[in-house]
Amino acid sequence: MLQDLERILFPEEAIVRAVDSLATRVTESFHGTEFTVVAVLKGSCIFAADLVRRLPLPMELGFAAAESYRTGTLPGELEITCFPREEEVRGREVLLVDDILDSGRTLDVLRRKLLGWGAARVRTCVLLDKPARRVVPLQADFRCFEIEDVFAVGYGLDFAGRYRNLPYVAELREEVYAAAGRVRTEARP
Ligand code: 5GP
Ligand code: MG
Repeated sequence: MLQDLERILFPEEAIVRAVDSLATRVTESFHGTEFTVVAVLKGSCIFAADLVRRLPLPMELGFAAAESYRTGTLPGELEITCFPREEEVRGREVLLVDDILDSGRTLDVLRRKLLGWGAARVRTCVLLDKPARRVVPLQADFRCFEIEDVFAVGYGLDFAGRYRNLPYVAELREEVYAAAGRVRTEARP
């Protein structure tokens, strides 16, 4: 598995420091509100688990998932495959947590849905932000790191279902995409 990696982008210690600092900002912003952390599956599971354990506030935890249509003809069309429960969202502040903000489509769609389900306010939070690839004009309210246009894996992020369990974030080697028969820009789910 390690031979598939080009280089480490963020080692474990850097992630710990960044999540500590993020947790302080989130705590200040959500203090005194009724709020729910909605983690986007599967990529944000490790990030969200580390973040919520650093929030010394009453809160609820919900989950959502959105996948690109595999057989559809409309590019960028997303299907929501997991929903938070209504009582976790209605009338509450939401912190929507994802692993990476890339084109922005996932968080844009989920943000609108959460507001449609009655969330009082939705703020977004990501581990990684790749502004060079943005299609939808969306900025994360909270983020840990900005990265250039490389394909990142580890700490929850996968390629073809693998590498999520790496304790750091690394750049995947291009040969791995080639071996999978996909070009780089198509490798994103
Ligand atoms: P967006 O909807 O913003 O284009 O993309 C968000 C999703 O695309 C992320 O939740 C993630 O699943 C996937 N993604 C985008 N860039 C990367 C990347 O560099 N590495 C991995 N592993 N997934 C990515
Ligand atoms: Mg994802």
